[in-house]
Amino acid sequence: MEKREVRVRYAPSPTGKLHVGGVRTALFNWLFARKHGGTFVLRIEDTDLERSTEESVEQLERSLRWIGLDWDEGPEVGGPYGPYRQTERLEVYRAAAQRLLEKGAAYYDFATTEELARFRERARAEGRSPIYTGGEYREMDPEEALRRVRSGEPHTIRFKTPREGQTIVEDVIRGPVTFENENIEDFVLMKSTGTPTYNFAAAVDDAAMEISHVIRGDDHLSNTPRQILIYRALGHELPAFAHVPQVLGPDRKKLSKRHGAASVEDFAEQGYLPEALFNYLALLGAGYAADEEIFSPQELAERFRLEKVSGNPAIFDVQKLTAINAVYLRRKSPEELAMMAAPLLAERGVATKEELERDMERLTRIMELLRERISLTTEIPDAIGYFYGGTLEYAPDEFEKQFGKEFVRENLPELRDRLAALTEWTADEIERCVRGLAAEKEKGARHLIHPLRFATTGRTVSAGLFETMELIGRERCLRRMDNVLQKLRARDLL
Ligand code: GLU
Repeated sequence: MEKREVRVRYAPSPTGKLHVGGVRTALFNWLFARKHGGTFVLRIEDTDLERSTEESVEQLERSLRWIGLDWDEGPEVGGPYGPYRQTERLEVYRAAAQRLLEKGAAYYDFATTEELARFRERARAEGRSPIYTGGEYREMDPEEALRRVRSGEPHTIRFKTPREGQTIVEDVIRGPVTFENENIEDFVLMKSTGTPTYNFAAAVDDAAMEISHVIRGDDHLSNTPRQILIYRALGHELPAFAHVPQVLGPDRKKLSKRHGAASVEDFAEQGYLPEALFNYLALLGAGYAADEEIFSPQELAERFRLEKVSGNPAIFDVQKLTAINAVYLRRKSPEELAMMAAPLLAERGVATKEELERDMERLTRIMELLRERISLTTEIPDAIGYFYGGTLEYAPDEFEKQFGKEFVRENLPELRDRLAALTEWTADEIERCVRGLAAEKEKGARHLIHPLRFATTGRTVSAGLFETMELIGRERCLRRMDNVLQKLRARDLL
């Protein structure tokens, strides 16, 4: 067989946010296309008019772009096989249904809901499988059927499923999966509303768009034999099929918001970077060695092997994703980080937009100092809030612990005055000053460093204190020390 040009598609139904499982399927399609120099198509499956919304279409496209996926053909970008929204292709499905009717591979079905229920009841009573096989309509004279259609009688168009034999899905990931045709009902192709069912529209489009590999979630595996039957009846060459397992939470239930986050938007809101989510999801269950973690999309594409994708469900490990996120954050330049931090800080009211913009250089240096300590962008306001604003709240127990010692109380006022008198407010000068005082008093510098850190940052842990103080700024540091001294005085401790 001649090798086909690689054409793959991601075909979401716009009925909600883009789920992590969905975007992983999209990623696998994209990686496969890029690896083989093929074409990645985006097709919007919006024929379910009740559940599809325009907002979801926009949300899906926004999420795909956010994570870094671009499509070669699809809405907006166009392409030779368009249109790429199923509601704009209704004529294509109607024509395909006509062809199947003419060939005798499909038939008009006039069964009412009650008739269908009765058919199933009778089958059950007679110990047969209750799947619908068309009753009197399957073999109805086509002229008679057409007459009834023309007279306006409600009807669907059903596929005339062969009652014998098997349909085998040759799955790239899980090998051959066999379905007995006798278990497949005469399924609906065109609903009474004149719109196609998912199975019909998907198969017609995959054929019309010359899709070479259908890579999709394994929740669709049971649909595939029906689509294969449609393909064959229309006389098309079958694509290869690969059904990608689901993404589950640690409790082995389908990943959902209950697990913390489930959609691409949830992860974006929680401070994950698109590159990190891309990297993590592309690795998840893709069969790479576990120690190979950080890859660019191009490297991932080079390494991607569809047949290596695991046939078992993938368990989402948020810690691993967070660790990967931290690596990508560290790789950003301090300037980029400052640009990311500014709106987050303004939003949280840590500082005003104007204040931040006036001194982006300082924010850049702060981000450089602290980037090792941040795993998520949402941690930024808490992690660097104390570089802004005025006096601090001190945890009472810790205040006691830091300032309870005689030595600290005796020397804090002197330390404050010496710091105030420094001609230059640099990390080096601050360090010399602190160490100098400690040496004069014949004490280790740590006896001053810990309370000073607590006084100026409100925390017991920080990046290097002297650089931290330089960046907090002289005035702010002194004001915070004065605040502490005042509190001590108020308690008669000074
Ligand atoms: N519209 C289907 C879904 O969102 C796509 C299934 C397929 O890829 O064929 O689940």
